[in-house]
Amino acid sequence: MGNRPGAGGVPGLSRTLVDMDVAGITYNDTYYIKKEAANELRVHFHELVHVLQWRELAPQGFIERYIREIQYFGYNNAPLEKMAYALDGHYQSKGRHLSVEQFVRENL
Ligand SMILES: [Zn+2]
Repeated sequence: MGNRPGAGGVPGLSRTLVDMDVAGITYNDTYYIKKEAANELRVHFHELVHVLQWRELAPQGFIERYIREIQYFGYNNAPLEKMAYALDGHYQSKGRHLSVEQFVRENL
């Protein structure tokens, strides 16, 4: 799986995160994307969802929750990731207009 969208977490904080093979990673209001995924707008969208999650939860809250979720549910089933995947899929499939900001706020 070389090209899935990225982790919302901080590199180096846990072995779990370090080992994840992701296309991008978000740290607070900044995200990084691997060169080979740079043209995939879905990946950018996914990381921007994480930016909103960071903003809503505040950095400490996001980091604690994200790591807890990854350890407990695994990457694919972590609620913060599932939300980001749901929204990037919505974007990719040209779903109906919605406020992503509001969606994130109401579904955290
Ligand atoms: Zn993600």
